[in-house]
Amino acid sequence: KYFGFDVIIFEARNRLGGRIWTYDQKADVGAFVITGLLGNPIRVLAKQINLELRPINQKCPLYLKNSVVDKSKDEVLENVFNTILESTSDMVKEKNLTTTNMDDLDRPLSLGDGLAIIIELHERQVRQEHLKHLNDIYFCQDILSKSLDTLKELETTIEELYDKHREALQSKIARNPKQEYAFRVNRYDLNRAIELYKATKQKCEHLEKRLKDLESKTKTTPIEYLSAIDRRILDWHFANLEFATGTSLNNLSLQHWDMDDDYAFAGPQMYAKDGQNQVALSLANGGVDFEIKLNQMVQSITLTSNGAEIQAINVEKLDKTSNKKSSQSTSYNVDAVLCTLPLGVLKNSINTTQRTEANSLNWVQFKPPLPDYKCKAINRLGFGNLNKVVLVFEKIFWDLNTHLFGNVSTMTKNRGELFLFTSVQRQQPVLVAFIAGDAADELEQMNDEQIKSKCLSILTEMFGQLPILKSYFVTRWKSDPWSQGSYSYVARGATGDDFDYLAEPVLHPSGNNNNNNNNASDQLIPRLFFAGEHTIRNYPSTVHGALLSGLREAAKIANQFLGIPYLK
Ligand SMILES: Cc1cc2nc3c(=O)[nH]c(=O)nc-3n(C[C@H](O)[C@H](O)[C@H](O)COP(=O)(O)OP(=O)(O)OC[C@H]3O[C@@H](n4cnc5c(N)ncnc54)[C@H](O)[C@@H]3O)c2cc1C
Repeated sequence: KYFGFDVIIFEARNRLGGRIWTYDQKADVGAFVITGLLGNPIRVLAKQINLELRPINQKCPLYLKNSVVDKSKDEVLENVFNTILESTSDMVKEKNLTTTNMDDLDRPLSLGDGLAIIIELHERQVRQEHLKHLNDIYFCQDILSKSLDTLKELETTIEELYDKHREALQSKIARNPKQEYAFRVNRYDLNRAIELYKATKQKCEHLEKRLKDLESKTKTTPIEYLSAIDRRILDWHFANLEFATGTSLNNLSLQHWDMDDDYAFAGPQMYAKDGQNQVALSLANGGVDFEIKLNQMVQSITLTSNGAEIQAINVEKLDKTSNKKSSQSTSYNVDAVLCTLPLGVLKNSINTTQRTEANSLNWVQFKPPLPDYKCKAINRLGFGNLNKVVLVFEKIFWDLNTHLFGNVSTMTKNRGELFLFTSVQRQQPVLVAFIAGDAADELEQMNDEQIKSKCLSILTEMFGQLPILKSYFVTRWKSDPWSQGSYSYVARGATGDDFDYLAEPVLHPSGNNNNNNNNASDQLIPRLFFAGEHTIRNYPSTVHGALLSGLREAAKIANQFLGIPYLK
């Protein structure tokens, strides 16, 4: 718009913001954390629009029902978690272990696979050490018992030899040479037996001491790598990682899941005191007059040789039970399109056969179909899920300085179910519960009442009797037709390159995206551009990534249509 273009924004929802959504001015049910302040463009935006940012206190006590996990145990297990995670990275970097061979096919390993391998190795090592310890005790006991037997035998031998020796000494009759020889042999044997006795006794004493040492260590020699409680706490940390990555660890590429780590902004994790809605609203009202069409679902994007045609339909007039009716749609002819459809919607748009009833409403027809390389990248990358429950109580019943508290699940299977509660926003009696990993999809199948009951029973276990719950709200980002998930992740088989493929603009098919100097491609310029969190390799899955990708494409479009005046 600042470049002088006429811009129309088609937004299918009845509100702005997409996956930024401050529910009822109470809590962010979409993006919440400004992930690292140093170098983060959201910081600049926040300053420009007067958005008050506050640091999140990262201290997060973990609750096992009504008791808080002991601080030292908590720290030990956090270290275990970090060590295991680092080991998976070593597996990739040092051992180059990234795939497994199943049915003669190389299948990329997931982060979940990697973690399971490392845990199994540790478990095996602990079992082996324990077995060795028991073996040492057994071995020691065995030798000690044999040595004690020897000692007894030696005592008898010594007594017999000594009796003979004494008898010979006491005899008054002079020994003939044969007797003298027998006397000396007996004396020699007696001395040998005494020496052997002393050595064996010493050996027994040493063995007894060693046995005592070993037995005293039995209590401290671990029988298992992780106790049942340890495993539950470790699972909490895994759930926390599933929250950050937006999916089960079993879906993430072991090799590439953290490919954007080097670009993460340092500094404190922040939140917007009054919610992040303001970010989207300010961009929409930021001094320029956009034409924003709310409730307008784009149905098709058709590329023509000199532009594109958009078909959009008014969602309010749509009979959601029937399929969309193209007769009601309006068409717009434009020079170029910037497509920011979420990855979930893109997946649903290109995979006609996998459409379910739940996501049959929102898919966009690309004419001609998107290029093969882009479709493959859309399919390879993952689009996860994360849900939140906003709980509005009559009054605050938690420590206001504690912004986060964790709920340690009883089972690995549902470790992400309501695993974290936040209490930061506006100092209101509002808590937000998080549902991550596999549980995010599973709980979308439950009704709101069931999810609310789960929240209340967990909180009652933690805090005892609760004040009255005045209202609550449950998100379902996967079932939400306009997002069809939470944010992108590097799935097994995908790489960082796939984000680049998604960012690649598309031109009319009679040209192509390579500069091969034929006449058609000289004239045909890209008309379809792509932005959104799933198109930015170094900052995916974030608000700042989405923002930067939009700026990148705005510059690309301006360069293409206005030229680059600074180039000589
Ligand atoms: C629960 C949750 C928690 C998150 N937490 C964080 C966080 O803490 N920090 C962080 O940085 N990021 C977080 N994110 C990610 C962040 O919200 C997104 O990366 C970012 O908002 C994506 O912006 P976008 O413009 O790419 O997509 P969107 O915001 O989804 O915008 C795409 C728009 O397209 C619209 N649309 C879809 N289909 C059509 C159609 N057919 N026609 C017209 N319009 C259509 C949608 O309604 C939507 O408004 C979170 C996301 C979720 C869901």
